[in-house]
This record gives sequence, C-alpha cells and structure tokens, in this order.
Amino acid sequence: MAGVDKKGDANLYYDNGQDSLSKGGSTGQREATKKEGHEVTEMPDIGDRYMVQRADKSWHAAEIIQTRTNEQDKPEFYVHYDGFNRRLDEWVEIDRFDLGSKHEDTSSKMKDVSILMTDLSDGTDRKITRNQKRKHDEINHVQKTYAEMDPTTAALEKEHEAITKVKYIDKIQIGKYEIDTWYFSPYPEEYGKVSKLWVCEYCLKYMRLERSYRYHQSQCIYRHPQGREIYRKGTISVFEVDGKESKMYCQNLCLVAKLFLDHKTLYFDVEPFLFYVLVEVDRHGCHLVGYFSKEKESPDGNNIACILILPPFQRKGYGKFLIAFSYELSKLESTVGSPEKPLSDLGKLSYRSYWSWVLLEILRDFRGTLSIKDLSEMTSITQSDIISTLQSLNMVKYWKGQHVICVTPKLVEEHLKSAQYKRPILTVDPSCLRWEPPVKVPKVSKK
Ligand SMILES: [Zn+2]
Repeated sequence: MAGVDKKGDANLYYDNGQDSLSKGGSTGQREATKKEGHEVTEMPDIGDRYMVQRADKSWHAAEIIQTRTNEQDKPEFYVHYDGFNRRLDEWVEIDRFDLGSKHEDTSSKMKDVSILMTDLSDGTDRKITRNQKRKHDEINHVQKTYAEMDPTTAALEKEHEAITKVKYIDKIQIGKYEIDTWYFSPYPEEYGKVSKLWVCEYCLKYMRLERSYRYHQSQCIYRHPQGREIYRKGTISVFEVDGKESKMYCQNLCLVAKLFLDHKTLYFDVEPFLFYVLVEVDRHGCHLVGYFSKEKESPDGNNIACILILPPFQRKGYGKFLIAFSYELSKLESTVGSPEKPLSDLGKLSYRSYWSWVLLEILRDFRGTLSIKDLSEMTSITQSDIISTLQSLNMVKYWKGQHVICVTPKLVEEHLKSAQYKRPILTVDPSCLRWEPPVKVPKVSKK
C-alpha cells in the first residue's frame, strides 16, 4: 500500500453535489470522476477510518474527527492516527488518503462529536448542562481533575474535551513570527475555524485575512501593551495591564495564550486580574514575549495564576525571569506567594529550579542560624515550597515535630556544582522596578 502513488487517484472520489467538496476546483477534473472506467469512491466522513499518509510519507490507520473546507474550497479532514499522541492530530487533504482502505469500526464510529457521550443517561438536558458547565468554568477559572468531579460532570467535561480537541487554527502570524499552535482556543466562530490567524503584535486584535492585517498594521495606534511600564532594563520591559481597564487587550492575550496551553479556563472574565506583560523593545516598538496573570485578591495567596512564554522565546530564560519577577512583586507587598495549582510539568521544573537557586544562594553566603520562617520572609517563597525544595536537596530534617534546616558548607558546595543548580540566564534587577503595591481598601463588613 505504501508504494502506491496516491496522487494519481486524487480525483477518484464521489462528488456528492457540493461544489465546495470537489478536489481541485476545476470542472473538468470533477467530471472526470463520472467518466467510464473510473471508480467512484465514497467521500470520507467523520468517524470513518482509513489509512492516511503522514508528512514523513509513512502510512498509518487514522480516524476522521472533523471535516472542513479550506480557503481554496478543498475539503480537509482532521485525523487522529492510532497509537500516536493527540499533538500529532492534523488537517490533511484527500490526496493523503488511501481511499480503498476504508473500514467500518462500529465501536469507534461517531458521526458527530457532539453525540460522542452516548452512555450519558440524562440525554435530554445534556447540551444545556454542558454549555452552562463550560460557561461556569470559564468564569470561575477552575480546573478540576476528572476524579474530583461527580460522574456526570466528568462525562460532560470529557465530552467538552472531545469537541475542543479539534484544533482548527494551525498557525498564527504575530509580528515577524509565524508560530505553529499547540491547542484549541475559543476564538469566535468565524475566526476560530481558519487555518491561519493574523494577530497584531501590539493590540492583539485578530484577523482572518492577511489583507486586513496589513491594513491594520498601517492604522494601529499602539506600539506597546495597554498598561503602565513598571520595569525596564536594556531591551527588556514589563508592563502592568489591568484586566478591568484594558479588558479587550487582556481577553485577546488570553485567547493567544490558550493556543499554547492545554489546561486553562480563563478567557473572558479578566477584570479580577492584573497582567504582567514581558516585551522585547526595539526602535519599532515592544514585541510580545510572554506574560503572567495574577489575581488582584487571591484568597489562596497565589502570586501567579497563569504564565506563558510564546514558543519562539522559550528556553531563553524568560520563564524563570517572570517567576523571579512575581516574587519581587510579593516582596514589595511584604507577603509570600505561590503559583496557582496544578502546575504543568514544565512549570514544576522551572519553579523547582528557581527555588533551589534562590535558597542555595542564601545558604552559601549566610553564616549563623536560619529558620524556614526567616527564609520565607527573605524570599517571599511560602514555607511549604521552601520545605519541599530543601527536602529535594536533602537539607531538611523533621525533628521533634518541626522541620529543621540541616546544612553543611560541603553539602551546599556539592549542590552548587550539580546539574540541578542552574544560574538563571536572565535575572531581575530590583533597582529597575518602578512599582508600589496597590493600596488595598479594607473591606467594611455590613451590619
Ligand atoms: Zn493593533
């Protein structure tokens, strides 16, 4: 099968009367499918399974999850390859199908992803409940695991995930970067289903057409994030943007972020958050690198709600720069903070590395006795994060009901030489930070 040139069969499929579904768009080619001697094949549909050729030319069994018509009026099929990670799901055209390989697999047949969860008993109210549920989650910015949910909610969430796993937007153009997207993001209908979205790097307005984008570039009045610059050193700046004052900008930022974050449910209710936007500055303007969001009032003491570095800027030290930045803000607030859980695997590694570096720097130079509480006051890292970090460094003992730091200069030296200890590429210079904590008005209780 792998040896067959599928290109020659490209026009051999059934034209079911929809012009938009015809390959190539030329009438002559479409008529050819009806000529004598040509086999007429059924058009692939959602739930069908075929052998499909991947970009590396290898053939694999795949299931069609969704269909669409692209800008050139050609049908495209969103396929999942058996045994491959969902990240490799992709949109393919008909010429990558072995149309003779179709096989019915009734167990996984699903004509419509919206009726995927047929085992749900409360079928009648299902759609409404699901939409309400989703709205609820988007507003409340919560992400529970399936195990924490009641069975119905878990089923609804799984169904939601099944629908949203179709990633329509393959790439975005933002500034000079064309970036492949990783995950679904809830852009409004007409924008959410194009394969490439054009995003203004300054105001984050999104457009379907390059034409509109080029025109917007000549008209856009912004050259930096819509907030106040609170940090500048060299070519790096951080802007504080209030979700209430610049609602549209922050919503657009969250939509871009979702393209690269698997679990995130905040898109529209941005008002209770501040956004700290990291940019690289040149003579043209401020170019978006990443950001973190922070609740204005966090009952759980979180100093970061969500953090993202755009793919072209990853692995350059910007993530750890933003983590350090969040702790500098907490220090000025005279409080301790911790990131919102759950953390991604990458987030855990970055935090562990940052905490280890901060604590080892102190322990290396300090002479005298230090308690965990002292360390927490010096760093704004919570006591529990300090304990878990010191445990991983084998520097804490549990003695008479308390955690006690046990450090020898030799142990510190060993860790400083180890691979786990990494000096950050970029560090925050507190003298370049122009920021005062917002004055918190004490809540007056009504009696
Ligand atoms: Zn703009």
